[in-house]
Amino acid sequence: MRKIISVISVLMLSGSLYAGSAMAENAVAGDVNGDGICGVADLNLVNDYVLGKIQFSENQCYSADMNGDSRVDSFDLVVMRRKLTVADAVLPVGKYTGVSENGIRHYTFFEGGGNYIDDSTGMGSLFAWEINGNNITVHISSAENTTNDVIEWTDENHFNIVWEDGTVEKFSPNRVEVIDGVTYIDGILIANKSYGLPVNYNPNGLTAETQKAFNEMASDASKDGLCLCVYSGFRSYIYQQQIYNNYVSLYGQVTADTFSARAGHSEHQTGLAIDVNCADDSFDGTPEALWLAENSWKYGFIIRYPKGKQDITGYKYEPWHVRYLGKETAEKVYRSGLTLEEYLGIDSVYK
Ligand SMILES: [Zn+2]
Repeated sequence: MRKIISVISVLMLSGSLYAGSAMAENAVAGDVNGDGICGVADLNLVNDYVLGKIQFSENQCYSADMNGDSRVDSFDLVVMRRKLTVADAVLPVGKYTGVSENGIRHYTFFEGGGNYIDDSTGMGSLFAWEINGNNITVHISSAENTTNDVIEWTDENHFNIVWEDGTVEKFSPNRVEVIDGVTYIDGILIANKSYGLPVNYNPNGLTAETQKAFNEMASDASKDGLCLCVYSGFRSYIYQQQIYNNYVSLYGQVTADTFSARAGHSEHQTGLAIDVNCADDSFDGTPEALWLAENSWKYGFIIRYPKGKQDITGYKYEPWHVRYLGKETAEKVYRSGLTLEEYLGIDSVYK
């Protein structure tokens, strides 16, 4: 009995009372951040609030009080989580890794179906799934082999499946692949401040595809009376090390880091990046720079370090530095209006 009382008093302490008057008319229950829906972001906020990490306004308390007892505590988290689970009783489309006590499985989900490959045996299975009330039903290998399972999202990118037999499998998106020390995000090779290249990564020049795309671009630009040439293309790890060290000795490391990459972090080492015509501010605003900004995506390139995005890309504006992504991806990135970091949801910070 004593134990129960102490548990209750802890629970009472963990939630704080607010003046539970109905103030926010038309408020969506659970919409703590005011974006009109009750989502995972709201759940995270309530979680932080219950843990005492953040404060809520009275309106936020009202929105977060899912069970209407004029306090916001872990019981509201339970109600909110259940509400979200109901709304999210579908599998996301894409590649995910599932980890459970039974081992690792590599999944591909698509609408209503998917497959997985067991990491240890290399054996695969196909499955179909459908929404079943608040949960999902999964048919593995055949329509008769069914399990009724629960999906629980833990944040925007991660979820668990609680299988019918009680096994909990934790799923993470397969976005990052590291092959021989080289990082690919969604299949795109990345070299920035967060993701480096090994010392021996050396395509010995621009990749053939990059050179071909550049030649095509330069040829078309020449029809407009403009001259595009490769001022700096591939740079090896060792060469970049010399360049960077030289800048550090001239300007100090803090300044050097704003415009020069540390060895292993230069996009020039990928053989996919080109400084066009020159590599200084005199290029900005030239007809060539304007043409490049407007047209390079058509040939598979993007302006890699756009103006005003230094805190995202890690580099100041470089209108001369283009990165080859292939036509399809370059067009998507160009039309998104985002930097490559934003497009892939990654950062660029030395760690
Ligand atoms: Zn460059």
